[in-house]
Amino acid sequence: MQNSVFVLDTNKQPLSPCRPSVARKLLRDGKAAVYRRFPFTLILKRAVEVSEPVQPVTVKVDPGSKTTGIALVQSGKVIFAAELTHRGQAIKDALESRRAIRRGRRQRNTRYRKPRFLNRTRPKGWLAPSLQSRVNNLQTWLVRFVKLCNVQAISMELVRFDTQLMQDAEVSGVEYQQGELAGYEVREYLLEKFNRKCCYCGKTDIPLEIEHITPKSRGGSNRVSNLCLACHPCNQRKGNQTATEFGFPSIQAQAKKPLKDASAVNSVRWAIWRMFDASGLPVEVGTGGRTKFNRTAQGYPKAHWIDAACVGASGQAVKLCPTIKPLAIKAVGRQSRQMCRPDKYGFPRTGAKESRVVKGFQTGDIVRAFVPSGKKQGMHTGRVSVRSTGSFNIGKVQGIGWKYCRILHRSDGYSFSSSALALG
Ligand SMILES: [Zn+2]
Repeated sequence: MQNSVFVLDTNKQPLSPCRPSVARKLLRDGKAAVYRRFPFTLILKRAVEVSEPVQPVTVKVDPGSKTTGIALVQSGKVIFAAELTHRGQAIKDALESRRAIRRGRRQRNTRYRKPRFLNRTRPKGWLAPSLQSRVNNLQTWLVRFVKLCNVQAISMELVRFDTQLMQDAEVSGVEYQQGELAGYEVREYLLEKFNRKCCYCGKTDIPLEIEHITPKSRGGSNRVSNLCLACHPCNQRKGNQTATEFGFPSIQAQAKKPLKDASAVNSVRWAIWRMFDASGLPVEVGTGGRTKFNRTAQGYPKAHWIDAACVGASGQAVKLCPTIKPLAIKAVGRQSRQMCRPDKYGFPRTGAKESRVVKGFQTGDIVRAFVPSGKKQGMHTGRVSVRSTGSFNIGKVQGIGWKYCRILHRSDGYSFSSSALALG
């Protein structure tokens, strides 16, 4: 099973996405041309009569700190999946290196630049550039999907857990509720509160069990204030002791403290929500507990795009093929604005790049080069790095003349999984 192919009519209006086999046939019969490589989109060559209205598509998103899962759902079925990797750390590193160079410049006896007087305030809703980039990436892709298919709704995971639902459920009988929605919300709450670690040994990335601080056999309740997380060995060793007897008196106090403003834990998610809301499309929101519940109830494996498909109430019954290969999208930025480039030791060494476009190509374009003879003879496809000499690098192959290159996809700030090129 592959991602569907987007189809546009002659006026560039979106039609229903089609299966890759249908797309191949359209191309073979000369009825359509390739409009875009990533995501693969066809444009029809002749006007067609559409008998039935184009089915609406919902864009579903599970925002993550490094990777965001995206699923497009049409009539309850996932037709397109993608995983978007953000730049986060790269932006932070670039800004830090710029800052270091500026600071160095002020101290050296060269062009002196006084630090500006610090009288600036940050506007309301300000996010660090590395975080803002996550919001911007999603905005870019929402706009792209709106152009390629009939997007009528958005669905996203907004918060990790629903405190309201936890209160109402009174958290009675944790064990019995493991399979129910409230149980999942409690679990997400505890994971957030105890930083996804075993409370006793501090291990991470292991299966954690919900554990009673004062054991039930000794009158401990099922309330959240008496619950914490422990790995299986710790849970066994603790046995019938309270946390204090086990040597961890601070756990009880930590469990009693409410999570401060639990709903605003993740400001980026709220910024994404505001951006989606401003698009004018209806936005459905869900909790992390609900996503997990939906995914487990339907027996799907864990993946970013599957989580996205399972977000919210509409994720309760969603058909998907777990072997579908999501399009891997990686934000790589467009170019460097740095006016002074440091070498690998951080010393300012060279000036800004002279020009980003060489012979009509720029770094990041996906090109195909057919070299008829010589050492580099053959077909080369991939991301090009331009050199002002006109001798380019394609992927790892160096020194390909620009005259042999043909553009498949113009650089648009993102790189993609190369396997997605196969259809073209
Ligand atoms: Zn442990």
